[in-house]
Amino acid sequence: MVETPVTIPEVSIPYAYRSLDWDALVREYPPAPTFFTTTYLKSPEEIRALQESRLARAVAHAYSTPFYRKRWDAAGIDPRAIRTLDDLRTIPTYVVDDIRQSIEAHPPFGDYQALTFADAARGPLRIFTSGGTTGRPRPTIYSQWDRNVGAILRARAFYLAGFRPGDAVQNTMLYSTHNGAFIVDEALYNWCGCIPVTTSAGIVTRSRRQIELMRDWGVRGLVGFHDFLMHLAETAKEMGIDPVRDLQLRNISTMGGKPRELEKAWGCNASENYGMHEVQVVASECPAKEGMHLWLDAFVVDIVDLDTGAPVPDGEVGSIVITALYKTGVPVVRYDTKDTARLLSRDRCACGSSLPRISSILGRADTMVKLRGINIWPEACGEIARRDPRVAGEFFCYAERRDGRDEMVLLVERKADVDDDAALQRDLAEMLRTELGVSIVVEVRPPGGTQELTRFGIEAKPRRFEDRRPKG
Ligand SMILES: [Zn+2]
Repeated sequence: MVETPVTIPEVSIPYAYRSLDWDALVREYPPAPTFFTTTYLKSPEEIRALQESRLARAVAHAYSTPFYRKRWDAAGIDPRAIRTLDDLRTIPTYVVDDIRQSIEAHPPFGDYQALTFADAARGPLRIFTSGGTTGRPRPTIYSQWDRNVGAILRARAFYLAGFRPGDAVQNTMLYSTHNGAFIVDEALYNWCGCIPVTTSAGIVTRSRRQIELMRDWGVRGLVGFHDFLMHLAETAKEMGIDPVRDLQLRNISTMGGKPRELEKAWGCNASENYGMHEVQVVASECPAKEGMHLWLDAFVVDIVDLDTGAPVPDGEVGSIVITALYKTGVPVVRYDTKDTARLLSRDRCACGSSLPRISSILGRADTMVKLRGINIWPEACGEIARRDPRVAGEFFCYAERRDGRDEMVLLVERKADVDDDAALQRDLAEMLRTELGVSIVVEVRPPGGTQELTRFGIEAKPRRFEDRRPKG
């Protein structure tokens, strides 16, 4: 019998190692340690010149997408006229709801992506989403360039946090369709010389197993969200493991949260970062621990008034507006994140850098509730309650209208061995009123009693707030 010959069609594949100009990448966005002896030490004038040299390309790239073109045309913006940071500030901002509407009108990816899957014929692409604490996760298509700049930025943060080649680093971010775990992984593996220990979050590797791995594999670095890392420290103690004596942990890198609390709980160094999936890490704490330096070679960052959108004076609370200068996938120009912070200092830091420093994120502008003229964030309520040793740590807030006035209700979990809920409730309400200057309704719940609302350990980030007030 004569067999019919079968041919395997030949298609060229854009191999990762040949699809990127690696030399240009590290020249434009130097990784650690080079970055810390070059760009990190530049004067404010040099940094501004570097930003402005990257602006035209970023703006032209954004204008190539229908999302930006429509908005800018309507506002009479000529992208070719945007040359300086002051010009950039004439462009209208957008918010997460604009992205959500774009996805609804143009499912499933919206009209803000500058790439389609077909572009993978020219170079590797990835797609990930936001962590999605509110609403549906937002997809982002990343080019190979964007992944690597993002990973270099994250690796700089890890270098500042003390991670060094040969360190095993446990990554407790959720490996899923979310970006978070993967950018950490890519940074550790490609740009730090660290060995990622891919435990993922508690839903993948149970807390006790996380601690056992940390001990048995001699893990030196730890990455994750504040709340889960605090929970892990508690777990270690329950297992009779002393985080300081029995583990080799040296450094922690966390997104948001309270690094000083982590240092106390784990008896090691901890540093804080700020960022989001569209643009990766934007600011990171240095060893001086007096704020997070903004990565201004990759971004332009403004802090603006929550109502007017105008830049606020340094030191005042406002919303963070971000322009990414490096993106070749999804453009990000004048994104009003509604994350609130203040600019702490533009002076040269003890570490030698003049990159401006911002505070920790105070909360999201859209979870801020105005009670009797005072701005209250759920995170602040939870943080105050946690100072009471009878409180286990987990909490959830909701706003509601009671008898014609707005109230914030704080549900907080007590420790298992606390028996007088009423006394705890009274003390917490008093503490909150003293600290915040306004009354908060407190309800004490048993351990695990807020999990249905927070989805702690189930979703990438715990939910902390719901607005139950009537709309309009
Ligand atoms: Zn510094």
